Amino acid sequence: MSASAEAGGPTPPPAGADAEGTPPASAPRAGFRPTEEERHEADVALAGAAAEGVHRLAIPTPFQVGRVNAYLIEDEPLTLIDSGPNSAKALDELEQALKARGRTIEDIELLIVTHQHIDHFGLASILARRSGAEVAALAGLDAYLGNFREETELDDVFAERTMLRHGIPAEVVSALRAVSASFRAWGSTVEVTRTLADGEELKLANRILRVLHRPGHSPSDTLFWDEARSQLFVADHLLKHISSNPLLARPLGAGRGFTGPRPQSLVTYLASLEATRTMDLELVLPGHGQPITDHATLIDKRLHMHQRRAKRIHALIATQPRTAHEVANEMWGDVAVTQAYLTLSEVLGHTDMLINAGLVVEQEEDGLVRFAAT
Ligand SMILES: [Zn+2]
Repeated sequence: MSASAEAGGPTPPPAGADAEGTPPASAPRAGFRPTEEERHEADVALAGAAAEGVHRLAIPTPFQVGRVNAYLIEDEPLTLIDSGPNSAKALDELEQALKARGRTIEDIELLIVTHQHIDHFGLASILARRSGAEVAALAGLDAYLGNFREETELDDVFAERTMLRHGIPAEVVSALRAVSASFRAWGSTVEVTRTLADGEELKLANRILRVLHRPGHSPSDTLFWDEARSQLFVADHLLKHISSNPLLARPLGAGRGFTGPRPQSLVTYLASLEATRTMDLELVLPGHGQPITDHATLIDKRLHMHQRRAKRIHALIATQPRTAHEVANEMWGDVAVTQAYLTLSEVLGHTDMLINAGLVVEQEEDGLVRFAAT
């Protein structure tokens, strides 16, 4: 499976996302290069974190999103936040990165999983087996990771039903099912040995990490807040150069028969972003790309982008009732098959905003949903 097949499966890994006007799924801006000044800022921020014992380890992934950031925390227990995907290349580079810090995989004592996407946790089972590390994750995410095959199968059932209901052609849906199955190889079943509750304090010898459940990008998004240092580990909740995909996902724990109401991923995500915006932070350490030192400004930018996009989608729906898939095609042209679910998620996120604002209604006919302006 080439990286160009990308995120699109019903069980999509990456953070996805876009600049305005480009398909949300295209992890985008593959050729992105930070400016000299941005690079310098990032170096300074990372050096500051390193002085406090926090080291970014950028691990390769086969996905278009590029590298994923794991963070090594030199503390007791020796802690790793996220692990990278389940691949030999990721494992090799992780070992090299640890070695550069005088550490080995066997030294890891605590492994934290931030959320349910395979580019973040795929290696966790191998690392746990080799190190004997405790594996910590949000309560609810533990069941997902522990039953990875079954859970992702249920994700596919949910995604298929959603896609058919919103106008994606059946042949595209079955093609996506195959893509999704092929992505499984980069995940793994992980036994979580310590579950975390929202608001709980995870105490290390020299720091306290407060557990914050801030769903939206995925149902299990978990942030870790070091209040004393004004540092926040956010995984894909907030990324500097791309906007996070508010991926439509089956709620944690929902079974095969789950039929709704449809989770409002984007609405949930925006509420989570608002909560993060109010925090007093010096440094935000994301799951991809560079550290963030002005999170409030960045979050404002994201919030405005979603408002603008909702307006564009409203205008499209106002001309005539359309399915979400038709809206996606109007917005981004004839997108790649692999991106159909991501663009669908993006549209449904914004129609949810419009429905909640009373501007749009859902009309169902023979199992197919069209959105119409009120
Ligand atoms: Zn993610």
